[in-house]
Amino acid sequence: MQVRAYAVASAAAPLAPTRIDRREPGPRDVVIDVLYCGVCHSDIHTARGEWGGTSYPAVPGHEIVGRVSAVGRAVKRFKTGEPVGVGCLVDSCRQCANCKAGLEQHCQGGPTFTYNSPDKKGSGHTFGGYADTIVVDQDFVLRIPSKMPLERTAPLLCAGITTYSPLKRFGAKRGKTVGVLGLGGLGHMAVKLAAAMGAKVVVFSGSESKRADAKRLGATGFVRTSDATAAAAATSMIDLLIDTVSGPHDISAALGWLSTGGVAVMVGASPDPLSLGVFPLIMGRRALAGSLIGGISETQDMLDFCARKGVYSDVEVLPVAKVNEAYERVLKGDVRYRFVLDLKTP
Ligand code: NAP
Ligand code: ZN
Ligand code: ZN
Repeated sequence: MQVRAYAVASAAAPLAPTRIDRREPGPRDVVIDVLYCGVCHSDIHTARGEWGGTSYPAVPGHEIVGRVSAVGRAVKRFKTGEPVGVGCLVDSCRQCANCKAGLEQHCQGGPTFTYNSPDKKGSGHTFGGYADTIVVDQDFVLRIPSKMPLERTAPLLCAGITTYSPLKRFGAKRGKTVGVLGLGGLGHMAVKLAAAMGAKVVVFSGSESKRADAKRLGATGFVRTSDATAAAAATSMIDLLIDTVSGPHDISAALGWLSTGGVAVMVGASPDPLSLGVFPLIMGRRALAGSLIGGISETQDMLDFCARKGVYSDVEVLPVAKVNEAYERVLKGDVRYRFVLDLKTP
């Protein structure tokens, strides 16, 4: 079926309205009428070919909330009219050790990401959520607990799970201090989630203008990274660092903020390599880790946790036609803290 979407035709092109093909729904498929889609910095990296490997035309968008408009005959868990979510994954083999362990994002057969992945059930590559409609296998559709505000829930599908997963894995809880480097879309969710888990939170940001927001979001400390005195005073201050920065930055300095044996987790995906002086790692027996979104059942756990705790994204909703403006403002740091595209307002 043909649906309306916003696509980029090349790395240098703006997003423009177009039509794309979605597969005819099979027995296990859920057809979703997209209401909202968050703008993740990964959408921008991909649209502009910054990581390499973008297939054009590209339709980004993997923070999708919508309503079920039809279901295949084998679908029992979802019904028409219900609100649902789709994150960064739409398929995996379900048989490899990683899939069986709930780590579909690391499927050894290659996960199918929501956009820019070879489409094993269709032709070409997958198209994301800047579109009227998406067709997704029921196993990759998330339940949205009732009463969640849908536009503020959309960013949980990537920014939420990407920060929730390492916070859980590395033990953010009462008695621990979590540092969050970079207060953007991922960063603001990391602050809210770590605080909701009971941890003390310190924000490390290059933007003095975000100091008051950091407190409002749940942090008790704020360090301006460009202030050499403040950054030096933060030595050994935190147990866990979630690094959400989207470009090159000084990771060695950041490691110094960790206590002995502390862990820094890279979730920010700078297209350019970072340089690393090893002494902060060696001297403090610290660890540097990485983390990629989260599996499907963990994403559902995260949504249920957010519903229980009342944790949602701070969003600015824009009509989908303003997507290019949203990209420019993200790149200028002019977003508090996530743009969400309204697919129903042209
Ligand atoms: P974002 O909203 O643009 O936030 C990034 C923040 O990093 C900015 O608000 C800014 O915070 C800081 N920053 C940006 N450029 C910087 C630079 N050159 N040096 C120092 N600080 C800088 O982006 P996002 O949507 O949160 O995504 C962040 C990164 O995570 C992107 O690279 C994205 O691709 C990646 N990502 C990874 C995963 C994963 O699974 N690992 C999932 C989603 C996204 P301050 O103003 O506070 O300094
Ligand atoms: Zn994302
Ligand atoms: Zn697999």
